Amino acid sequence: YDDRDGKIWLDGKLVEWRDANVHILSHALHYASSVFEGERAYNGKIFKSVEHSERLQASGKLLDMEIPYTVEEIEAAKQAVLDANGLTDAYIRVVAWRGAGEDMGVASSRNPVRMAVAAWTWGAYYGDAKMQGAKLDIAKWKRPSPETIPTQAKAAGLYMICTMSKHAAEAKGCSDALFLDYRGYVSEATGANIFFVKDGEVHTPIPDAILNGITRQTIIGMLRDKGITVHERRIQLEELEGFEQCWLTGTAAEVTPVGQIGDYTFTVGDITRDIAAEYEALVRA
Ligand code: PMP
Repeated sequence: YDDRDGKIWLDGKLVEWRDANVHILSHALHYASSVFEGERAYNGKIFKSVEHSERLQASGKLLDMEIPYTVEEIEAAKQAVLDANGLTDAYIRVVAWRGAGEDMGVASSRNPVRMAVAAWTWGAYYGDAKMQGAKLDIAKWKRPSPETIPTQAKAAGLYMICTMSKHAAEAKGCSDALFLDYRGYVSEATGANIFFVKDGEVHTPIPDAILNGITRQTIIGMLRDKGITVHERRIQLEELEGFEQCWLTGTAAEVTPVGQIGDYTFTVGDITRDIAAEYEALVRA
């Protein structure tokens, strides 16, 4: 992704894609002092753009890292990147981090907080098989307690076990991994939230140790508007035996049906297909 034409917004300016570099002594590279957003633009409009900018700010605050741009400035930066690259349908990555400077220890109060925005075309997150039902491994790592790490932040440090778990899953021929949390409850995938269907009702984990995804919140609202009961509750792994349908939600994943998690199997049923189609229509509306 580094060697190509295009423009990236870096600390207030559009720079050549190839020149959007940071120093190796950047604090974030050593200590994971970084927060980010993943967003999608459809037909020229970023879906829930302000919500994403606000979550970036909130993630920064959770890390005691004040992002030196307002929501309005972040909004303008994202639009500038789409315009400069001639993109209408794109994935947008906003990242803010503690840079290089006076400090090289764990403390970093004298180093600047920096921000960048890039955008590129990114199709189906789980590839062409998206509507056939993804196969998920069960991760050996557990999502940590909110007393261990700020689980509501979309922060780089939370993704270390995601990369490890996704690599392990792919080595077994799976598309992704499902995490249990520190208590053993079903939590989320490495970059998406999870939903299940049983007897026409929907079940999804309480967002107490997972990212309360913007797509997750959108889908819960859509289901309730349709009159479908949604239970936000603690879900045990053994309960997967009784669930009929399953899907993942996320900005990148959108609504992706799941066909298998470990030895548990699901069908791509009516509620899954309907909500996927309705989400697709909503983001493009
Ligand atoms: N959980 C994790 C760990 C994620 O990385 C993501 C993607 N941001 C999500 C859930 C889904 O969040 P959203 O719907 O806001 O993209």
